[in-house]
Amino acid sequence: MAGILDLPLMREAVTSCHYFWEAGWGECHAGNMSYLLSDADIAEVEPFFMAQPVRVPFGYDTAGLVGKSFLITRTGGQFRTIVERAERDMGIIRVNEGSYDILWGYDNGVGRPTSELPAHLLCHASRLGSNPGNRLVMHTHPTYLNAMTTIADLDEKSFTETLWSLNSECILVFPDGIGVLPWMVCGEGEIGPLTAKKMERYRIVVWPYHGIFSSGDSFDEAIGLIETVDKNAHVYVAVNGKPKHCINEGQLKDLAAHFGLSAAF
Ligand SMILES: [Zn+2]
Repeated sequence: MAGILDLPLMREAVTSCHYFWEAGWGECHAGNMSYLLSDADIAEVEPFFMAQPVRVPFGYDTAGLVGKSFLITRTGGQFRTIVERAERDMGIIRVNEGSYDILWGYDNGVGRPTSELPAHLLCHASRLGSNPGNRLVMHTHPTYLNAMTTIADLDEKSFTETLWSLNSECILVFPDGIGVLPWMVCGEGEIGPLTAKKMERYRIVVWPYHGIFSSGDSFDEAIGLIETVDKNAHVYVAVNGKPKHCINEGQLKDLAAHFGLSAAF
């Protein structure tokens, strides 16, 4: 009997996440993905739901998404091995008021969705307000984009126009431009709401010295945006040389404090 992972949607989700590792953008635990399931998608996956959902309290803003279901990657998952471990590293949740239910995955509800879940939900709400077809939100660490953020002016108008100027295709692929946040501590906190605010206008949001969020109607669109940005960031880095700015010592100490790390300075 065919399993849930044989469904075309699930196969595409797994191979798309693995592609991030193949591209060099999904090292270690980096990268996460969420997909808002349509009614037709739910009809396909529902036969594979656990008999008893696992209810998890959730104290963050559910962004008007109560009743919606998402396919979303796991916290601590690895895109390198996701093909062999998809039932551990992916799951399906339904959002409630003050909680969510795990319906499938994460090793039968033992694991949990990405720690960026609040950011993902807020980004989905933003994109649904701008383009209801944009069901996908992806985050990863494109190498050349991160290098470009150490050199380029991080003003988003300048950043967008610099990329547009490097290849005739860029303005065709992202005519809506690119949102750029200042560096800030990642994870739960202000970075989620601020990313979602940018996503009201942009399908791409850059986190300097860290990575990118992208959204689209399909895996092809969301990944194509990242590929186009990273390809042209590669060109930019090839002709512009050395870093001019990066994470400073004070910001590193903020990170260590936020995650309770014993890094020696
Ligand atoms: Zn990241």
